[in-house]
Amino acid sequence: MLSVLGADVPVPLAGGGERAYAALDQAASAPALVRVWEDVAAYAPYYGSVHRGAGHLSRLSTELFEQSRVTVAGFLGIDADDPDRQVVFTRSTTDSLNLLARALPAGTRVFVFETEHHASLLPWRDHDTVVLDAPDSPSRAVELLDRALAEAPPGPRLLCVTGASNVTGELWPVAELTEVAHRHGARVVLDAAQLVPHHRVDVGRLGVDWVAFSGHKLYAPFGAGVLAGRADWLRAAEPYLAGGGASRGVERRPDGGLDVRWQESAARHEAGSPNVIGAYALASACRALTDVGFERIAAREQRLLARLRRGLADLPEVRVLSLFGPDAERVGVVSFVVDGWSSGRLADALSAEWAIGVRAGLFCAHPLLRALLGAAPGGAGECGGGELDAVRVSFGVGTPDEHVDR
Ligand code: PLP
Repeated sequence: MLSVLGADVPVPLAGGGERAYAALDQAASAPALVRVWEDVAAYAPYYGSVHRGAGHLSRLSTELFEQSRVTVAGFLGIDADDPDRQVVFTRSTTDSLNLLARALPAGTRVFVFETEHHASLLPWRDHDTVVLDAPDSPSRAVELLDRALAEAPPGPRLLCVTGASNVTGELWPVAELTEVAHRHGARVVLDAAQLVPHHRVDVGRLGVDWVAFSGHKLYAPFGAGVLAGRADWLRAAEPYLAGGGASRGVERRPDGGLDVRWQESAARHEAGSPNVIGAYALASACRALTDVGFERIAAREQRLLARLRRGLADLPEVRVLSLFGPDAERVGVVSFVVDGWSSGRLADALSAEWAIGVRAGLFCAHPLLRALLGAAPGGAGECGGGELDAVRVSFGVGTPDEHVDR
């Protein structure tokens, strides 16, 4: 498979001795691929300003930056030459969704499920937002959306939906939701932060209008993300950030004000010096995952996931969190509560005694945690030390069986 950085970092254990770190919090940030790091190291001595300088290294950097955009487009099944599509480099999924929120036509009504990560839930607050109840099955999600859209007054509409839950790992019926959304004249942005490291996200096949994701969850370093999809709303919007690179021309008017002609390309929303290394690393990760192939990645991950779920099922005090039930399709992300343990204490013990890094808390998805735990008998509120939270284990391409067994 693919090697990742940090695989052998020794962790001192509370009882003495040390053990190699088990990175089981990859839904937060995945360890970078060795191959990505090597690519970046090979390019780093040559980098220069992009879209600005006339020197050799500036030209080289500009070429690599723009080539990274083409690679990402190909990774998502988008034709890089299609004038109706754009790939904008952002800082992260959060940044991408906030950018889109600023680009919505006036009066757009936004539909989101309450189960979303806060990055998908909060950017729309300045718009008329319809928050849909947590569904208990993928088909119920489709029904809820269908009804809400049918009842909504006419006007521009957007559905923001996640591809895979950052809490339960469950896959959302993106193609079906998109079909319903389009039937009601709504556009769709896919929050692919948790989906893109595990499955091929083909924008054309899914039919979504935009996709947003982060490099640091895709085995690249922090600081680069993507918003890719339809160009029209992005091209019509005021830039998300105003500054150099976003404008084609600026003139001072006789009355002292400024006239600006903004770029028509993705550069419109990439003002300032871009994160060239971040974009290059992200594209390198796209190439590496494509080379291995998502069938292989998914097959290996499903084997590990089954192993983890079997192990947890053998422990009667563990309750795995799920919206859609045990048969739902999911990625390598599993959250659970343990009778008699607060999640924070459990995560601390896993770190101190087993050198396992997990996450404990509400995973930036407070309404979802409330839906999963709040009303349920025997939820963490009753059995987990009075807290509404859980422990999350998540893994990726570099996870060995031993980490899951541990
Ligand atoms: N969406 C989902 C489903 C996530 O899991 C996350 C991060 O955990 C985000 C969005 C936000 O990603 P970032 O922090 O990289 O902006």
